[in-house]
Amino acid sequence: MNKNPQTPLVFCTILLLLKSLHANSHSHSHTVCIIGSGIGGASVAHFLRRYSDPQTIGQITIFERHGVVGGRMATVTIAGETFESGASILHPKNYHALNYTKYLNLRVKQPKHADDSLSLGIWDGHKFVYKTLNSSSKLPIVQRFVAIANSIVMLLRYGVFSLLRMSSFVEATVNKFLRYYEGFESRPVFESVEGMLKWAGLYNLTTRTLGEELVNVGLSPILIQELVTVITRINYGQSVNISGLAGAVSLAGSGGGLWSVEGGNWQMAAGLINRSEVVLHLHEEIESISYLGDVYELNSTKGKSYNCQVAVVATPLDELNILFNPAISLPPRKLQHTHATFVRGLLNPAYFGLGSLSDIPELVGTTETADVPFSSISILKEHEKDMTYKIFSREPLADALLDVIFSVRVETIKINWAAYPHYQAPETYAPFILDGNHLYYVNAFENAASTMETSAVAAENIARLILSRLSQQVYYSSTNLKSFSSDSSRLHVEL
Ligand SMILES: Cc1cc2nc3c(=O)[nH]c(=O)nc-3n(C[C@H](O)[C@H](O)[C@H](O)COP(=O)(O)OP(=O)(O)OC[C@H]3O[C@@H](n4cnc5c(N)ncnc54)[C@H](O)[C@@H]3O)c2cc1C
Repeated sequence: MNKNPQTPLVFCTILLLLKSLHANSHSHSHTVCIIGSGIGGASVAHFLRRYSDPQTIGQITIFERHGVVGGRMATVTIAGETFESGASILHPKNYHALNYTKYLNLRVKQPKHADDSLSLGIWDGHKFVYKTLNSSSKLPIVQRFVAIANSIVMLLRYGVFSLLRMSSFVEATVNKFLRYYEGFESRPVFESVEGMLKWAGLYNLTTRTLGEELVNVGLSPILIQELVTVITRINYGQSVNISGLAGAVSLAGSGGGLWSVEGGNWQMAAGLINRSEVVLHLHEEIESISYLGDVYELNSTKGKSYNCQVAVVATPLDELNILFNPAISLPPRKLQHTHATFVRGLLNPAYFGLGSLSDIPELVGTTETADVPFSSISILKEHEKDMTYKIFSREPLADALLDVIFSVRVETIKINWAAYPHYQAPETYAPFILDGNHLYYVNAFENAASTMETSAVAAENIARLILSRLSQQVYYSSTNLKSFSSDSSRLHVEL
């Protein structure tokens, strides 16, 4: 029997307190504005929803200056057929991207040449310094034989040990990167790119060039000057002077098991945005972001104004004119432009000093020389009478030049991409938190490497960082210290 007459009163007070706590927790729901609908922006929205409840994160708004989502994941339609025009390939260990495809019921597509049978030539502007055998036979046994012969030619030219050392270098780097998929118990929330790289053991790779790293691990100079250079020129439009980390990522993107999303990689961004209860503003370019004390005011070129408690920049700021008030400071960074030219037609064998079209390898890579106006030419599709080609170059390709490289040109589409950072070593990094408050920058991580997956990995960390810092803010500003402190510690453990 209750002998204390004050107990019902205490009980009522606790109930009232709990009710007020519940009401308070609703009033602490935060609005988030994200600039950019690429894989980075879409992933921030996705992970914010996954790691929090509506009491913590309220409305999420994404602004996209173009009329479609996906950013550098985009397709081009040439002669009635659609191909990836930007980010095209994913690595078998790109686990966020793989999870997205499962979550969104998207279909994984293997590349046409999953079996090493792609013919490769390395062109130095005058001759093919390396060329694999090419067979027009469709018989699997013949193709297998050609693949084996090509492996032997490659081993002889570049050296067995050099090739093995190259693949160990890539494997070791990929294994370190896999730490970013560890659970929250062992993986902290990172406040800086440097901290994030150091924790995974990847930071040192960004202090030296790829060339230096590979000499260090004992690769032959010819392998670096030819095969490795071809790969960095294809994947980043740059030489082996890119950082060791960007270089390792680039080399990993030339291995086996690569894949893409059937119908276009951009569907990952579209699906994540669709499923994350996002208010999406297409054709709305943000031109200024001002901190007003407790909210950010975003102004768009449409003359509209939006307020959010958290603002996330999910696009490279280097070539944009967004006005920040107060001003922010970023280390200088140049973007590497890649000109992607799509041609339906036929290459001119005479340009390569060859007698027939079938002698031209399916992938023509190039060495680092002023004599070559393009980084690579590859066949995207063979049609009955002609082909669709993709050419990457650092400078735009004039029609007059294209008419020398091609003997037939039915249709041509040219895209100028502000593609990825111009990498250097040692790298410098912009902060993840741009103003010490709640203005975040996903693409600070692009100085480490620029891929769809690295954007997703950076975005996941930004989502955790936002939630972790909001929970601390609630902790410090709340009068109901006890309740919120237990809540916030739970959040920290889970994130
Ligand atoms: C030619 C090319 C080939 C590539 N190949 C590969 C590959 O094979 N594999 C791979 O993994 N990666 C590849 N990449 C890199 C990959 O595309 C990028 O790393 C990744 O897509 C970046 O995504 P993001 O969301 O960070 O940025 P983005 O995709 O650039 O998204 C930013 C978005 O923000 C929007 N935006 C910008 N400013 C504003 C503003 N003021 N207001 C509103 N919206 C704004 C932009 O329109 C854009 O849609 C390639 C890139 C290029 C260009």
